[in-house]
Amino acid sequence: MRILLVEDDVVLATALTRVLNQTAHAVDSAETGEQARDALKDDVYDLVILDVGLPKPDGFEVLHELRQRGSHVPVLVLTARDALEDRVRGLDLGADDYLTKPFDLPEFEARVRALIRRVHYRASPELKHGRLRLDSAGRRLFCDDKPVELSQRELAVIELLMLRAGRVVTKEQMVDHLYGWADDVGSNAMEVYIHRLRKKLEAAEINIRTVRGMGYLLD
Ligand code: CA
Repeated sequence: MRILLVEDDVVLATALTRVLNQTAHAVDSAETGEQARDALKDDVYDLVILDVGLPKPDGFEVLHELRQRGSHVPVLVLTARDALEDRVRGLDLGADDYLTKPFDLPEFEARVRALIRRVHYRASPELKHGRLRLDSAGRRLFCDDKPVELSQRELAVIELLMLRAGRVVTKEQMVDHLYGWADDVGSNAMEVYIHRLRKKLEAAEINIRTVRGMGYLLD
């Protein structure tokens, strides 16, 4: 998943990015409301994590604008301790969930998982396709009930293909989904992941089709 993290506390932002990267999420960071506005112009994010306490424009304004534009991207707001008003205001402006600082990283991870699941997996903790089953909480793929050994990036590719099964996923969409701004993406990176996945999933009779000039399709 591609996540925009808006947080002006650099130490916290670094810690959160590390946690998210470990679970194969691509993270773009914004430290100001202006940067967040710019980033959100391209509607490429699967989740936005938004600190409300930013120098103007603050997180509330960013959220307000986002919803005014009709964006449905899930938003997790981060609020200061004891700021009940902030939590209420965030939810009223269209946030999907909130976390109060300071929070523990496992709780942060669980909230992120829950939001992604609610929005992208249609509430089920698992994705299924043929003999494949992807467990979103454990971040593992199973064929029948046997685990398939995949790298985090390979897992992210098959997750995207499973989420959009029957539809073509372009290389650009894959790159957007897998990588943040800071990542250096080799020109044939996607071909390499697809090649590896095809090999690893041969026994599962999973067919990742190449649609010439367009992208890939999970039949
Ligand atoms: Ca702040």
